[in-house]
Amino acid sequence: MPAAARETEPTLEIHDASVLAWARDTLDRAGDPRAMQQAVLDAVAGNARWRGEECLNLLAPEAPMSPTVRGLLSAEVGQRAAEGHIGPANRWFVGTKYIDEIEALCVELLKRAFNARYADHRLVASMIGNMTVYAALTQPGDAIMSVTQPFGGHSSNRADGPAGIRGLRVHDVPMDPIELVVDLDAFAGAARQIRPTLVALGASMTLFPFPVREMSAIVAEWGGRVFFDGAHQLGLIGGGQFQDPLREGSCVLTGSAGKTFSGPQSGVIVWNDPALTEPLTDAIFPTLAATHQVNRVAALAAAAAEFLAFGPVYMAQIVVNAQALAAALQARDVPMLAAHKGFTRTHQAIADVRAFGGGEAVAERLAEANIITNKNLIPTDAPAAWDHPGGLRIGTTEVTRWGMTEPEMARIADLMADVLHERRGSAAVRADAIELRRAFPTLQFCFPPEA
Ligand SMILES: *Cc1c(COP(=O)(O)O)cnc(C)c1O
Repeated sequence: MPAAARETEPTLEIHDASVLAWARDTLDRAGDPRAMQQAVLDAVAGNARWRGEECLNLLAPEAPMSPTVRGLLSAEVGQRAAEGHIGPANRWFVGTKYIDEIEALCVELLKRAFNARYADHRLVASMIGNMTVYAALTQPGDAIMSVTQPFGGHSSNRADGPAGIRGLRVHDVPMDPIELVVDLDAFAGAARQIRPTLVALGASMTLFPFPVREMSAIVAEWGGRVFFDGAHQLGLIGGGQFQDPLREGSCVLTGSAGKTFSGPQSGVIVWNDPALTEPLTDAIFPTLAATHQVNRVAALAAAAAEFLAFGPVYMAQIVVNAQALAAALQARDVPMLAAHKGFTRTHQAIADVRAFGGGEAVAERLAEANIITNKNLIPTDAPAAWDHPGGLRIGTTEVTRWGMTEPEMARIADLMADVLHERRGSAAVRADAIELRRAFPTLQFCFPPEA
């Protein structure tokens, strides 16, 4: 489009106007398509250098993939089309001999990683896994219950996500704002009134286990079911470092492959009841997945194999590190949630940073110093405050995989406290953050590269 025509057209962009303007300027200045492509490569390289080599990444939903797993994302098979279920009789396209092998290996590895009878590999996101559950196990107009956002609930289980798209009536799972667990008595009362078809447990801000067994028993009174959205805790669950929802009464476990599980960003779904296999897999194909990125499936399979070898030890250290980092921050006068009960049983620690300007400002200041976290709603926030929450969410998955342990958690807490208490400028803290990151150049908990 010529520049003149572009400027006279009315635009309504949901994206940040200044960043889009930067991109237009960059492309205009580049002039020819080859230079335009170079601009893309430059941005990718910039991120790889900064986030990959110079930052302490404490973003809870992230995990570094092993070189083998990451390499598979650019595998030849990523350009092949393979819709349908595994096996030549189930495919629309021919030529899937090796693709069937890759996908079957992935399914069987996932079953082993999660000790489940059934697994599916075709979810390009965990969001789609939750949509699968709603499509398969609910009817429009049904009531469900899920955790609200200030307690860590995720849009996928609320009215503004897949549950809402399915036309479900979404009610709140009552939570205890101090203990940060389900208020079981309040839940029993509310659930017996609402009689939900499904109760979605699990959350994005997640510190402690859910009473899956007790809640499953309550909803079973009217044939309701519990499903566990373990997006964040998937690795912890598979590694035996958290609760075990499938054995506690949850009918399905969904999760993100790229969070604690440390595989390629995408979704995992596992279950044990044969009666669920047809509804769930029908919802996946042909409803929610077509070409499903076989390169990603290969990476997921390879990550699951690594997980079988290293998962329990890796996941245990993640939790130890989260507890150590939370305790170290609290000791440096950064108030942490759930200090009275050991801070956390997961990869996350949550700081209450209202006294330091709120989550948004604090996350920005830390990022200036190459320490990457995110603003987060906490129970004292109103849901409407989603953009200016009082909390800061801190995750230890990535620093753990780089080999950091408790002494480094104390060091990270020093650096964070320096920023929050404004003891040192961001440039000075940044230099220390880079030095700490560079002292751990080798990714752990994966097979050594072939000689
Ligand atoms: C991250 C998250 C999701 C979405 O997962 P994606 O893999 O990013 O699609 C769903 N539910 C919860 C609780 C999450 O934290």
